[in-house]
Amino acid sequence: MRKLIVGNWKMNGTLAQLDEIGQIQAGAAAYDNVDSALCLPATLIHAAKQRFADFQFGGQDCHHAPKGAHTGCISAEMLTDAGSAMVILGHSERRSDQGESDADVRAKASAACAAGLHVILCVGETEAQRDAGQTETVILAQLMGSVPDDIAAEHIDIAYEPIWAIGTGRVPAIEEIASVHAAIRTHLTERFGQAGRAVRILYGGSMNGDNAAAILAVPNVGGGLIGGASLTAEKFLPIIKAAS
Ligand code: 13P
Repeated sequence: MRKLIVGNWKMNGTLAQLDEIGQIQAGAAAYDNVDSALCLPATLIHAAKQRFADFQFGGQDCHHAPKGAHTGCISAEMLTDAGSAMVILGHSERRSDQGESDADVRAKASAACAAGLHVILCVGETEAQRDAGQTETVILAQLMGSVPDDIAAEHIDIAYEPIWAIGTGRVPAIEEIASVHAAIRTHLTERFGQAGRAVRILYGGSMNGDNAAAILAVPNVGGGLIGGASLTAEKFLPIIKAAS
């Protein structure tokens, strides 16, 4: 299966970063056996797609409604209109900062698919849950609650992002990543049958050019969702290279 390497720029970047995006796009073109993409702040997507039409861009959230009186929100159709091919949903920062529930994420995922967006749906445990031995229970409950039953498996990828590993420089042991990804795979095949085998399960959390090769070699790791190390070509391209 081709690996998918997605940069999540979070709340970083203005038009001044378009040149950096150009360097990422140009460098990534050398690894044509890897799917790569950048999920940008919504304000940058259109300009980036205009300049770098061959590269894949996405958003970081969308509303569950197609349109209406929701000040400050962005619909799935607005993201496709701006040039997005995908959207990150249920990121732990939105689950905590905006209080998004599994039901919210599920509704957004349905809306995104209806608008033709590919969904990257995030799950992950807190450090306290991990210490209490609840990691798999938490992850499976999030999958059960936030992945729509009727979604076509080819329209979704899952990102496993342990919350305690995001932006901390800490990464789970390879065996821990292997065991969580295997549990996610089992859940997906139980729910979606053979199609569940084709869903890519990305790892996210302090991934960088030094640890990417080892993480990407783990069974059932189909790629990476990268925050800090996706902001520059210098840091992001070695991860794409590791996936090639
Ligand atoms: P970092 O790569 O900065 O740890 O962020 C991971 C993440 O949250 C990607 O969505």
